[in-house]
Amino acid sequence: MTIQTDAVIVGAGPVGLFQVFELGLLGLKAELVDSLPQVGGQCAELYPEKPIYDIPAWPVIGAQELVDKLMQQIKPFHAGIHLGQRVEKFEKREDGRFTVVTSTGTEFDAGAVIIAAGLGAFQARKLKAKGIDEVTSDQIHYKVTNREQFRGKRLLILGGGDSALDWTMDLAEIAESVELIHRRNEYRGAAASVEKVRALAAEGKVRERQGIITQVHSEDGRFTGFDLMDLERNKSSVEGDEVLVFWGLSPDLGPIADWGLDLEKKQIPVDTEKFQTSVEGVFAIGDVNTYPGKKKFILSGFHEAALAAFGVQKYVYPDARQFVQYTTTSPIMHKRLGVA
Ligand code: FAD
Repeated sequence: MTIQTDAVIVGAGPVGLFQVFELGLLGLKAELVDSLPQVGGQCAELYPEKPIYDIPAWPVIGAQELVDKLMQQIKPFHAGIHLGQRVEKFEKREDGRFTVVTSTGTEFDAGAVIIAAGLGAFQARKLKAKGIDEVTSDQIHYKVTNREQFRGKRLLILGGGDSALDWTMDLAEIAESVELIHRRNEYRGAAASVEKVRALAAEGKVRERQGIITQVHSEDGRFTGFDLMDLERNKSSVEGDEVLVFWGLSPDLGPIADWGLDLEKKQIPVDTEKFQTSVEGVFAIGDVNTYPGKKKFILSGFHEAALAAFGVQKYVYPDARQFVQYTTTSPIMHKRLGVA
């Protein structure tokens, strides 16, 4: 089924979320897509607990709290939110509308496209080491989709953050053995998890190893083990059946780079009147865009969203009358906000 909408917003970071609001005030419908399983972009993924001090009228607000408030603010507009899927394909049709398709096959027929992709789609940081290209089997995992497949296996878990620690604790119950491999002795995860993992290690249920991977070994495409080197340059080898890599996420502009838009150092140049890209009907706001004087602040993205909404309206409904209305006094905006 193809979803019809006025605009598809690529990226549900703070700026993409606020775009829903600005479009909604003008009576435009939006669908939001994000590759992460949650909304909030960098705020939710990278620093949810940190206080932000430069959001107007909020002397201090937690990053996740800001995301929660934005979600509350856009609620009246009932935007479709499609998480855990990356916008992959994008085509401008002859009628000027856009076909947009995600990695899970969700398809949109959109009047306009607004790219609010920040630094790019967050992807699991991949295992890169000598010999990795020879591994053609599916023994290297970046997430756990079926816990049972690890029962009775010798597991090598890479990482030192919460995901690595959580899965070490969990899979130690069902695996034949678990080796937790991190480049140094300190972990980044929650103190309680670190304590529990250390306790499992003391009981002999988990083995902790320090080091970086210098070589990946395989036989006929099947992974067999790693060579490691620790901070003192001591070398060791380890064998295993399955590898779970939890090295965090890194952003990747990915398919957006192939959409035929002008790019400048992985950013999308836009005008500052409506934040339109080199393709008419495609707009770019927030950290992903560039223009003279651009500063990557959340508040800059909010301003860009307000003006882009007018640009989208003009593109999708060229005959619509455009004028500035205040949310304090506009009866039509009150109706759209559900406060009339
Ligand atoms: P992002 O927050 O990066 O969100 C973009 C979203 O798009 C991501 O969720 C990504 O997964 C998604 N995406 C990308 N490509 C695709 C695709 N193809 N398909 C689907 N989804 C896609 N700014 C301030 O103003 N004040 C501060 O105090 C402040 N502190 C910060 C502290 C830290 C530690 C960091 C890292 C940043 C800070 N920033 C701060 C910067 C601020 O977080 C960014 O400016 C802001 O997040 C940009 O919002 P955005 O919506 O443009 O992009």
